[in-house]
Amino acid sequence: MKLLSTALSHISAARDRAALTRDSYTRVDFNLGFEVTHYDLDLTYRVEPNMLQGEAILHIRALEDFDKLTLDLGGAMVARRITAKHAPRVAKFRLSAGKLRLTFADTIVENQEFELHIRYGGSPRPLRTPWGEIGWEETDSGSLVASQPNGAPSWFPCDDTPSEKATYDIRITADDPFVVISNGKLVSRRSAGGSMTRWHYRVKHPMATYLATVQIGEYSEIDLGRDVRAWAPARLKQVVLEEFAQQQEMLDFYSSLFGHYPFPDYQVVITDDELEIPLEAQGLSIFGSNHVKGDHLFERLIAHELSHQWFGNSVGLSEWKDIWLNEGFACYCEWLWFEHAHGRPVHESARSHYQVLARKKQDILLGDPGTRDMFDDRVYKRGALTVHALRRLVGDEVFFRTVRDYLTASQHSVVTPEDLISRVKKEATDPSAVDALLDEWLNHTALPKFPV
Ligand SMILES: [Zn+2]
Repeated sequence: MKLLSTALSHISAARDRAALTRDSYTRVDFNLGFEVTHYDLDLTYRVEPNMLQGEAILHIRALEDFDKLTLDLGGAMVARRITAKHAPRVAKFRLSAGKLRLTFADTIVENQEFELHIRYGGSPRPLRTPWGEIGWEETDSGSLVASQPNGAPSWFPCDDTPSEKATYDIRITADDPFVVISNGKLVSRRSAGGSMTRWHYRVKHPMATYLATVQIGEYSEIDLGRDVRAWAPARLKQVVLEEFAQQQEMLDFYSSLFGHYPFPDYQVVITDDELEIPLEAQGLSIFGSNHVKGDHLFERLIAHELSHQWFGNSVGLSEWKDIWLNEGFACYCEWLWFEHAHGRPVHESARSHYQVLARKKQDILLGDPGTRDMFDDRVYKRGALTVHALRRLVGDEVFFRTVRDYLTASQHSVVTPEDLISRVKKEATDPSAVDALLDEWLNHTALPKFPV
């Protein structure tokens, strides 16, 4: 984990974190003293035996002197051989309880840049976490990866914390006729012999580990517009075209509000399997076949997942406790879309969700909901209502301008709520009212009054 973040505003938060040794949400120890700047994954996946193996090359920069480091690797993955390049040799390594512990033959010095070449593999399975099983998962006809918040070590060795972003090359060789979809741009796709194809994706915009994904299945490509395409089983093509007919318009609408779409393109994957909930990854979202029935029942989730490309993926979290920044804004974007597309005023959506929320137990601290309630629907809805209350307080002009500036300034980086709040306060006529309002919504459990 980085000790000093590139953005000045994160330095104090990073220092605070460095004083801690463990993520209080995932309960996983931090990997301290270095940053991974690039992941180069070259993996082969055999669908039928569910076997993943290959090499991960991690490009690392030391942030202090050390002769030992740790990485996250779990599930069924086994590290077979680790060598270092441009660094002292790896004297020994050990994998236990999800931590890969390396000892070097000599000291690596601050600012030294080096590579770790890690040969590993196994029969991938999701990790058991406080939020259930997450990570690489076998499907009926392929596999999917859904790692939020800490499932990434189920398929590659990494520094698994949301504040640490890196660029990626993801090369997956898989059996024909399976299609491999991953983040970023497809650089090449060529036969690897033996009825296998090698797919190479490049992610040049820094990405958090939990947003890295691989979707493998018998997918057909479906064109949804200038910047958008879908991948789905051929039998679902017609219904996908209907359900996602407005995806490009949604992208254009959010771009008009929040600045241009932050990635090269947007892909949606619709799996053959049913999924409990859709999931966001960087540059793509994953839906289950149960989300496309032709009845537009999940239109709000199609809007929600797309908005995460701005809120959560391009502009990421430093810490999981600030999850409301991702989910509050993504929920608010649902309401904005429904106003734009169906004429339902945002204020009306806010009011009806407030009424539902008011009937529920008020025991969640939005600013730090804790492991158990991190993905509770009350965090999502109260988060969206907080956004709405802030907008009502400062007015539309200041609200949209500051949110847009905040997204632009922190693009492809990570933030804390303070990054947004300080901007809003600078523009607001009464900065102390902004503090008072956010204190009520974020730092106390009682539900504040509905914003007038
Ligand atoms: Zn979400």
